[in-house]
Amino acid sequence: MNDYNDNNNTLPENAGERRTFQKLSIIVPCYNEEESVPLFYAETMKQAPFFSSKNVELEFIFVNDGSRDKTAQAIKSLREKDDRVHMVSFSRNFGKESAIFAGLEKADGDLVVLMDVDLQDPPALLPQMYTHIAEEGYDAVGSRRVTRSGEPPVRSWFARRFYGLMRKISSTEIVDGARDYRMMTRKVVDAILAMKETGRFSKGIFGWVGYKTKWLEYENINRVAGETKWSFRKLFMYSIDGIVAFSTAPLAIPVIMGIMFWLAAFVLLVILIVRAALGFNVLMLGLFALIAFTGGAVLLGVGIVAVYIAKLYLETKDRPKYLVDEEF
Ligand code: UDP
Ligand code: MG
Repeated sequence: MNDYNDNNNTLPENAGERRTFQKLSIIVPCYNEEESVPLFYAETMKQAPFFSSKNVELEFIFVNDGSRDKTAQAIKSLREKDDRVHMVSFSRNFGKESAIFAGLEKADGDLVVLMDVDLQDPPALLPQMYTHIAEEGYDAVGSRRVTRSGEPPVRSWFARRFYGLMRKISSTEIVDGARDYRMMTRKVVDAILAMKETGRFSKGIFGWVGYKTKWLEYENINRVAGETKWSFRKLFMYSIDGIVAFSTAPLAIPVIMGIMFWLAAFVLLVILIVRAALGFNVLMLGLFALIAFTGGAVLLGVGIVAVYIAKLYLETKDRPKYLVDEEF
């Protein structure tokens, strides 16, 4: 297995220190999920006895991300039976990232879990997640799929390339196969909320904030009803968001190209001198060398500007300069 597992799954120093929690907020982004909502609620409520045995209250925060079907009605009819059900309903579809953010803002539990409504995030893992946090001192429990069965092969291939690329160009750890299904303590939630950037990429944000994280692994599960809301195009654009949000490496491309152009100009110049000494006509070569030199100069100029834009970009995100885990 990959090394992040070994690093992250060693027990934290404060292991064994038992903690108690009052309330678990379950955040559920929903987009056109009228069929899944009641199934999700029923399945998740099977874990309720465990949490009441620990004296942990539950609250559900369904974020209706501009659904065009009867998702809102489905949530409202749950509310009629159970006043622990809450809803934030968007004016239009803003995307899952915005739904997650809205849910985190509304949640007031000292424990929070993010779950997809399609039951691809098995509620049966909730007690185990709770135990890692309450009894082993972890601040967050993430989950990752170790298989991508049931997914189109092209999609898996692109996903793998994406994670491979991110590992190279970003200093933030983005775990392959990580899902958004994770339980977190209030400390971690507040850290995530302190990252106010608009172009949000949660998998990167989770890695960026750090804290002691336990990873649970499981086999892919197919969704219970409805269809995936991610077209290939949407996923592709999302991966660009991820790259742009957590790496400024693409801004180095003009610098690299500029240097290559200058190298080419230099080689052409050497050939030109040799051929001129041998008495050949070097007018064309000279022209090429000039073009390569000017092109390189322009690219390098752009590259210098890009370096400053990269800095400016990071400054405008106004991320916290550090996050404290403990102090006294
Ligand atoms: N979702 C959302 N807004 C969107 C797309 C998806 O809130 O614009 C929700 C969706 O209802 C589901 C979760 O995000 O609860 C994951 O979506 P989906 O199952 O379609 O993604 P997949 O599991 O196929 O990656
Ligand atoms: Mg799904």
